[in-house]
Amino acid sequence: MPQALPLISIEEIEHAARLLRAGRLVAFPTETVYGLGANALDAEAVARIYAVKGRPATSPLIVHVGSIEMAQSLAADWPEAATRLTQKFWPGPLTLVLPTARVWTIAPTRPADQSAAEVPSRPAIPLIVTAGLPTVGLRMPAHSIALALIRAAGVPLAAPSANRFTQLSPTTSDHVRRSLGADVDYILDGGPCHVGIESTVLSLAGPQPVLLRPGGLSRVEIEAVIGPITTPADPAAGAHPAPGMHPRHYSPQTSLLLVTAGMLPEQGQGIYLQHLHPPNRIDVPIRQMPHSAAHYAAVLYRELHEADAGNYDWIAVDLPPNTPDWEAVHDRLHRAASNS
Ligand code: AMP
Ligand code: MG
Repeated sequence: MPQALPLISIEEIEHAARLLRAGRLVAFPTETVYGLGANALDAEAVARIYAVKGRPATSPLIVHVGSIEMAQSLAADWPEAATRLTQKFWPGPLTLVLPTARVWTIAPTRPADQSAAEVPSRPAIPLIVTAGLPTVGLRMPAHSIALALIRAAGVPLAAPSANRFTQLSPTTSDHVRRSLGADVDYILDGGPCHVGIESTVLSLAGPQPVLLRPGGLSRVEIEAVIGPITTPADPAAGAHPAPGMHPRHYSPQTSLLLVTAGMLPEQGQGIYLQHLHPPNRIDVPIRQMPHSAAHYAAVLYRELHEADAGNYDWIAVDLPPNTPDWEAVHDRLHRAASNS
């Protein structure tokens, strides 16, 4: 079900849509995290996203659509698995990577004896959006403000998370403002994001479905619909097939430590995000994290943003169990803790 109840007026949506059509950047809420949106068909506007985020040109952007039909118009191929997955999980936290559609145009005029042919001249989505890849990541967000914005703009929106590259993703409009400040032209405030971590990215562009990034929709739920899915053999090779695969990503400024059995460092002053294990130091403040994976994911970035603002020497995280429903949370925690 799309997340409901925006406290946002039609006028605000229309204002934001006009800005997008004029090539400006608008941050908007989705059920996963806040996105930094630009018209996906406008290469110059998309270039501003990369500049504002400080994001390398090798990291493709997800294109957000307002309907399955809009997604189909941007893909060259729509396999059976795409039909089954979008019927079941869209709108929702699932990004599908598919071959990009090309736009057909009339070839330049030729001598009268040759017939004019229609030739595919360019990708429907500019190459800057897909980092030069022949594929595009497509997602229909389950958020009424995001959907209303895409429909009002009348174009698909390229939108990575609305934060500087490698930093923590924003799950409130305040996080966006603190990270991007005046570099974003407009922010739509939809309150906190319900899923709280980024979408699951699944490639359907090859012979086998490949899980490029675990996220808001679990592998188990996807496999229940299309059968077994694989993980990329070598995520480090070539252009980043999934930007979320940078080892350091989603990171607070404060060093983040993953601990087991409550074993905190002996030195320094920190804060402890407890899941199941009480800490071995009594002088360290505790934040109790939710027990279920979904609730944990929903508050994770908010807790990390708050801990990061507390001027601690470290943030220690009580590592949750390594079971399938925790796959996405584990992925984000390990990247946040990475110092490479
Ligand atoms: P984010 O920074 O959260 O917007 O993450 C963008 C995600 O989009 C990455 O993790 C990629 O997996 C995914 N993505 C977008 N386009 C493509 C593409 N053409 N091929 C592979 N992954 C893509
Ligand atoms: Mg991001």
